Amino acid sequence: MIVDSQERYLQELLDKQARGELKAKDRYAIPPQDMPVQDGVERRSNMSEVALGYTALQARLEAMRCLGCANAPCVEGCPVRIRIKDFVAEIAAGRFDHALAIIKENSLLPAVCGRVCPQEVQCQERCTVGKKFKDPNMSVSIGRLERFVADLASAGGQTPQVAPSTGKKVAVIGSGPGGIVVAADTRRAGHEVTMFEAFHKPGGVKVYGIPEFRLPKKIVQEEIDVLEKMGVKIVCNYIVGRTRTIEQLMQEDGFDAVYVGVGAGLPKFMNIEGEYLVGVYSANEYLTRTNLMKAYAFGQGADTPIAAGKKVAVLGGGNVAMDAARMAVRLGAEKVYLVYRRSEVEMPARIEEVHHAKEEGVIFCTLQNPQRILGSEDGHVVGMECLRYELGEPDESGRRRPVAIKGSAFVLDVDTVIVAIGNGPNPLIEQTTPGLEFNKWGNIVVDEGCRTSMKGVYAGGDIVLGAATIILAMGQGRIAAKAINADLAAKKLS
Ligand SMILES: Cc1cc2nc3c(=O)[nH]c(=O)nc-3n(C[C@H](O)[C@H](O)[C@H](O)COP(=O)(O)OP(=O)(O)OC[C@H]3O[C@@H](n4cnc5c(N)ncnc54)[C@H](O)[C@@H]3O)c2cc1C
Ligand code: SF4
Repeated sequence: MIVDSQERYLQELLDKQARGELKAKDRYAIPPQDMPVQDGVERRSNMSEVALGYTALQARLEAMRCLGCANAPCVEGCPVRIRIKDFVAEIAAGRFDHALAIIKENSLLPAVCGRVCPQEVQCQERCTVGKKFKDPNMSVSIGRLERFVADLASAGGQTPQVAPSTGKKVAVIGSGPGGIVVAADTRRAGHEVTMFEAFHKPGGVKVYGIPEFRLPKKIVQEEIDVLEKMGVKIVCNYIVGRTRTIEQLMQEDGFDAVYVGVGAGLPKFMNIEGEYLVGVYSANEYLTRTNLMKAYAFGQGADTPIAAGKKVAVLGGGNVAMDAARMAVRLGAEKVYLVYRRSEVEMPARIEEVHHAKEEGVIFCTLQNPQRILGSEDGHVVGMECLRYELGEPDESGRRRPVAIKGSAFVLDVDTVIVAIGNGPNPLIEQTTPGLEFNKWGNIVVDEGCRTSMKGVYAGGDIVLGAATIILAMGQGRIAAKAINADLAAKKLS
């Protein structure tokens, strides 16, 4: 019944548009379409995706909210400059395949970006509709629309054409989003491409870090399948810097160009007492065990166990912390505390993830920070001593500095602590590649074409930017591939 009336509403809007009578006020009056989600209680005990995606009717109604602004400020907010108003207009008209073709001009991974890009601080933050209501949550839901068209097509996606062989060889180190884009774009140009991955499965953070309930692994596998159909060779269990060095790949194995996309996989710790107790994990280890190694199915086909914990504290306020906390819920923890030293306003995690974590029962302990982790005689975590904080003056990041309140120490009763306060670059490539320039934080220095200080070596993604985002890594992959293709075509590389 509701669907019928919504269908009639859409038709009325389309008729009005056809007569040239649809005004901005009519578009503002269209209610924002909520994304259907799995029930908050039910999903605490399964790994299935939480957000279920728009129906075609919802997508078209949501797209009708777009004003088609002449200056399209949303595009300015998109790191890869997708023609947003054009693809949204195609959705409104029901031409979903056209919409996808427009997105694919600039983004190779729309099913991923539609799900995990931080749209609320990118395209949607600039959207005129959100500005009109003074609420970014009222913006056109660009990400959900992107996801909708990508999901429709994912089952029957076409394999991109590959140019005749150039006889040149490209090595891609790391199979994250940047590496995937470089592999696709350089292979399309006719080069022989080999992708080397340290883990036993390709996909980068999307496979080992971001959980199934947020990004189904089937989607990442489909991207990898497309690469393989294009003729990209994928070699797993291969650690560049250990198995072979970059120099060996170029001097002995005949690679003409190398892209370094090894990410930022080295976890940071608090450096507090008790951090080496049994029951303390980095979020990387916790999530890798559960996502990549499927520890939640230990004994039912998976070989990697995890001591999941019944009372779990997760330290941090970013996406990684949310993922770890929500994973702990699914692994059966009775209490999951998210301990963050600032307030919720300063949390870097996506609003949607914060909202989902709360719905799933994660307890937010803001303005608190641990000062030591307490252990039993046999070295297991038995608690965490914390201090309460208040917000002081803004610091160099512009956020108000958390200041400890004297005498506020208390003990949180936990048996597991997951540290999710950030990641840095793994130093392996730096240690094994003399001649490659790094900055003081251990990130590779590149020019505007993602060229490094070594001829024939390019880099992008988190190893250049520090822990950033999928869309930024993809953007850099695109730039690097363009430079590789141009340099190889110009025979600048010997
Ligand atoms: C838990 C978690 C949640 C996140 N959530 C979001 C989100 O919601 N939205 C978002 O936009 N971003 C998110 N991010 C950040 C995002 O995933 C990264 O910015 C992005 O994946 C970086 O891409 P990349 O191309 O640098 O490669 P990565 O995805 O980092 O992959 C690098 C790959 O290189 C491999 N590798 C490393 N060293 C070597 C070596 N020596 N030899 C061979 N292979 C090697 C690694 O095993 C890995 O597979 C999240 C990150 C984490 C950890
Ligand atoms: S800013 Fe918003 S309303 Fe304007 S074109 Fe972009 S999505 Fe549409």
